[in-house]
Amino acid sequence: MLFGPPGAGKGTQAEIIVEITGKPQVSTGDMLRSAVSQGTKLGLEAKVFMESGKLVPDQVIIGLIEDRLNEPDASNGVLFDGFPRTIPQAEALAEITEVSAVISIEVPDEDIVNRIVGRRMDPITGEIYHVLFKPPPPGTESRLVQRKDDNEDTVRMRLAAYHEQTKPLGEWYSNRGILAIVDGTGTIQEVGHSVAKAVRSI
Ligand code: AMP
Repeated sequence: MLFGPPGAGKGTQAEIIVEITGKPQVSTGDMLRSAVSQGTKLGLEAKVFMESGKLVPDQVIIGLIEDRLNEPDASNGVLFDGFPRTIPQAEALAEITEVSAVISIEVPDEDIVNRIVGRRMDPITGEIYHVLFKPPPPGTESRLVQRKDDNEDTVRMRLAAYHEQTKPLGEWYSNRGILAIVDGTGTIQEVGHSVAKAVRSI
């Protein structure tokens, strides 16, 4: 499981872990965004919470995860990214399956806002860029899109939700002896190196 505040680089670093472990990435944020863009009932329900920087209700998320874990590619384990985000979600997950390791990517709040407001996505390749820290290839700039919740006001709400509801989970997993902490403030490559080291030591 990848754990950390919004904008810590969980999605970016997930790629390395998927490469090392071969396990599929399960990102509740990506699943919800896909439901929103398809206009499903779930998407309509989740949209208001997401756009205001609040967490989607636990029972919605738990149902989503139960369905996802029943898919064949999840039978040998998955990499959770952005889930669980509350103690009730972690408790529900513990009923379904065992969490073997948690990698916490730590980034101070001051850095998060700068990271998130400069974040852009290429809708064709799905690749994530940053206007300053990871500029897109020349010629692709005009097609890049920004997530609706990647603006300063919403980021501050998302950070507040993280501190109140998600951060206590770090201690929850640390008490179970399965938490590895990685400094998330370096370059993508530096953080990737630390993440790979943590995964190989698990
Ligand atoms: P993310 O892409 O992980 O930053 O998630 C984007 C938004 O989706 C969050 O700000 C929440 O509104 C919602 N979300 C994603 N995962 C969860 C979760 N596990 N629990 C509650 N809300 C979630």
